[in-house]
Amino acid sequence: MSFEIGPIRPPSEAVSLLIRVTRNCPWNRCRFCITYKGTQFSRRPVEEIKADITEVKRISERIRKISHQLNCGGDITAAVANSALREGGESFYHVARWLYCGGETVFLQDANSLLLKTGELVEILNFLKECFPRVTRVTTYARASTIARKTVAELASLRAAGLSRIHVGMESGCDEVLAYMEKGTTAGQLVEAGRKIKAAGISPCYYVILGLGGKRWARRHPVDTAKVLAGAEPDFIRLRTMAVVPGTALYELTARGDFQPLTEDEIVSEEKVLLEHLEGVDSYLVSDHVLNLLEEVRGHLLTDREKMLNVINRYLALPDEQRLNFRLGKRAGVYRRLDDMQNRQLYDEVAVEQARLAAEGRLEETLSSLQKQFI
Ligand code: SF4
Repeated sequence: MSFEIGPIRPPSEAVSLLIRVTRNCPWNRCRFCITYKGTQFSRRPVEEIKADITEVKRISERIRKISHQLNCGGDITAAVANSALREGGESFYHVARWLYCGGETVFLQDANSLLLKTGELVEILNFLKECFPRVTRVTTYARASTIARKTVAELASLRAAGLSRIHVGMESGCDEVLAYMEKGTTAGQLVEAGRKIKAAGISPCYYVILGLGGKRWARRHPVDTAKVLAGAEPDFIRLRTMAVVPGTALYELTARGDFQPLTEDEIVSEEKVLLEHLEGVDSYLVSDHVLNLLEEVRGHLLTDREKMLNVINRYLALPDEQRLNFRLGKRAGVYRRLDDMQNRQLYDEVAVEQARLAAEGRLEETLSSLQKQFI
């Protein structure tokens, strides 16, 4: 017994059941992205997806039986999950983990599920609900250009069938940056998509990549991004940090000097400009990625914006030596938050390593390789 699982899901869907409704990315041209390079996009037939959902149901029934055999009364414990892994491999383990975490959330993969016909998606969502009535949240990724082509009525029918949130890779609200990165969407489509999703009662979550404009668009990128976010007002804004990944077109452009990445401190300055321009926006902002330097920049923009700006300002106001200390401690996993630097013992530990690396002329190189381990 097994079912198909795609390669990625948002961090916030770590404990969700993954159901693959399409394979790979239909666009696959964004210059910074390597996720689906070398793969072919395909739509999965509805019957095949329903067969996968049926398989998940069978596996979950078998896992309950394993639980009873282990005298766990049908509960899913770590021992049950491990036993499921031994019996049925990854598919069993995935379902066991999902059930262990409550079995209430589902994520539809891969990069642009809304490319399926609305009627097909409704059929899949209804079948999912029939098989798993306890599911309370179903989310998916979709491209803004695809969402903008759907009517609010179509999106509302998806909501009625159970689709509760759409994750959108916005990346930037600056048309020049979007065009340079070959994102295939425009600022106008991003606003339209957000408004339509909300009008249909679905929760939009937009992802922004800090530093995506490089040095050329260091000012336009955050200012225009804030404008689009103010227009779309997604329920959630999730910040990501630019990383130039080997094997991407952007890597080549960077090697040729056409794209000039920002330094970490410039990225934090850009984050400050973004926050300054998000006054009055009714969205919750999250920095839930390990590559983000200041992960504690998090909160509702209507009530916590000053607090978030304060974290950024505190970092930027530090002397050079201390900013480097924080970067090194954060990347090495010694610090999680800026306040962790107040721990004298931790600070001194990092300072010793910082001095050694600086003396060897390897500080920036080490910071960069520590960062790369998270890409
Ligand atoms: S649309 Fe998303 S998954 Fe597809 S290439 Fe662009 S960033 Fe990658």
